[in-house]
Amino acid sequence: MRVDVFSLFPDLVGAFLDASLIGKARAEGVLDLRVHDLRSHASGVHRAVDDAPYGGGAGMVLMAEPVFACVEAAAPPRPLLGLAPSGRVFDQGLAAELAAGDGFSLLCGRYEGFDARITDNLVDGELSIGDYVLAGGEVAAFVVIEAVARLVPGVLGNQASVDEESFADDLLEYPQYTRPPVFRHWPVPDVLRSGDHRAVAEWRRAQSLARTQARRPDLIERRGGLTDEEKALLERWAPEE
Ligand code: SAM
Repeated sequence: MRVDVFSLFPDLVGAFLDASLIGKARAEGVLDLRVHDLRSHASGVHRAVDDAPYGGGAGMVLMAEPVFACVEAAAPPRPLLGLAPSGRVFDQGLAAELAAGDGFSLLCGRYEGFDARITDNLVDGELSIGDYVLAGGEVAAFVVIEAVARLVPGVLGNQASVDEESFADDLLEYPQYTRPPVFRHWPVPDVLRSGDHRAVAEWRRAQSLARTQARRPDLIERRGGLTDEEKALLERWAPEE
């Protein structure tokens, strides 16, 4: 998979891409990650990439010319997604869609964002990581790349873990425990130490359902409520107090 990132802070992006799991996957050639400096195609003595907005108002706007020139020179993999608070909100489903393809590219904004001609004519879509405003698109790009990369075969050591975690099947993950069996006065639930694999699987599924129902009822609603079998599991393993 090839992923290209366009940014005014290529060193910051490069440092992220060289760290941890993603850095390892990059070094092993599982991920082809390329960073492009948006300033590299800026002209003029000051190599300006931003200018004041037409119509007035606070802040500066990223100019179309250097951004188009940088992207066109790189011929990056598509879709090219602009990071913007006004974009489609990124989620696990979209991460899985991007992970199933051969690659994609991310355009990081700064200042007050992009000249609208970039949004209208250069990118294939816009992505937001949530309803808040960051100073730049780099952190949003890190979120997208990390969520997608860990779904790409060969990036995670244990691929099974992605099938069981939060948002798989629209449910939150069950609680996890490790040693010791009793910490202070808090014991690990007996069923997890019982050796009964079927009971463990049922308990985990029931905890997932109960957690999701309590914390994210919107996810339960999205999957069309609970089946009779799930209600019975909840009754058996996670009855309401
Ligand atoms: N003036 C813009 C607005 O009101 O929508 C905000 C610009 S923001 C200060 C600068 C850059 O940060 C944006 O161009 C975008 O690339 C990035 N950014 C900020 N918030 C973001 C979010 N929630 N998701 C993705 N990118 C974001």
